[in-house]
Amino acid sequence: MNAAASNIIDGKDFAAGLREKVGAAVPAFTESAGRAPGLAVVLVGDDPASQIYVGSKVKMTRAAGMESFEHRLPADTQQEALEALVKQLNSDDAVDGILVQLPLPSHLDQQAVIDLIDPDKDVDGLTPTSTGRLALGIEGLVPCTPLGCMMLLKDRLGDLSGKDAIVLGRSILVGKPMAQLLLAENCTVTVAHSRTRDLKERVCEADIVVAAVGRAEMVKGDWLKQGAVVIDVGINRLEPAEGEKKGRLVGDVDYAAATPHVSAITPVPGGVGPMTIACLLRNTLVAAHRRAGLADPEGL
Ligand code: NDP
Repeated sequence: MNAAASNIIDGKDFAAGLREKVGAAVPAFTESAGRAPGLAVVLVGDDPASQIYVGSKVKMTRAAGMESFEHRLPADTQQEALEALVKQLNSDDAVDGILVQLPLPSHLDQQAVIDLIDPDKDVDGLTPTSTGRLALGIEGLVPCTPLGCMMLLKDRLGDLSGKDAIVLGRSILVGKPMAQLLLAENCTVTVAHSRTRDLKERVCEADIVVAAVGRAEMVKGDWLKQGAVVIDVGINRLEPAEGEKKGRLVGDVDYAAATPHVSAITPVPGGVGPMTIACLLRNTLVAAHRRAGLADPEGL
């Protein structure tokens, strides 16, 4: 647990520690396998936010001592060309993880591309096989954001057994895998979404609240049970206030109002966000070990 924190969960600090642990485990893998772990990132088009995400992923992959393979394709790339690239990466032995940056331009069939990724290289955990493995409770690769949320929760709470948890949101990327992970830790899980009735009352009953909705400060302070632990996944940009060039980034939880009610909460930014890339590196290292027939690295 982060000793400096009172009730603030410092995801930035935790993620830096995780990246360090991954980096420290890389030389032993490289020694055994005769090559460094490799992550291939595929970006189609020039969406500015995606460019920034891919840039950070490449930089942090290299900083951890891993091989980074970058594939930047033009926005008018055709389905066949993209699928051919994924197949080529599947058969490339130097590649342990494949990440296709989403969303893809709208003329492309995103699901068909994801379906092609070799599940053993699926470091984003989004293929039907990875999703099925998670649901069945068998070894596989878990989507990075919920995996990061779970690490923060376990670091703070230890044993989650018997806790009442609510996940706001049911996306394939965050909500659904988060619910599966909480269930695997023996929580009693409610999954809420846009049609859920009496949302405030349901949130009020939860010991653990994971908000992944994408609605600025939707969860108010008085929705939260005294002493709850809150993981805020949402990243929302507010309209700029007077004199500001850019609006502030806020989560799905009204942070200032929530803080007095909770025993712990992740800030936005600096909470869940940094965990996502750290978990991508962790998943790549784990995938590399499994593909090489080595035991999973310890403590990750
Ligand atoms: P999606 O848009 O795919 O899913 C949003 C979910 O929220 C849906 O299940 C939707 O319900 C539900 N929802 C929408 N409005 C309400 C409401 N009023 N009450 C209850 N539920 C509601 O988003 P993602 O899961 O991809 O992302 C969620 C948030 O997390 C976003 O802000 C995103 O930017 C952020 N994010 C952050 C990451 C990080 O690294 N920190 C990584 C990934 C996402 P329904 O299914 O009924 O439509």
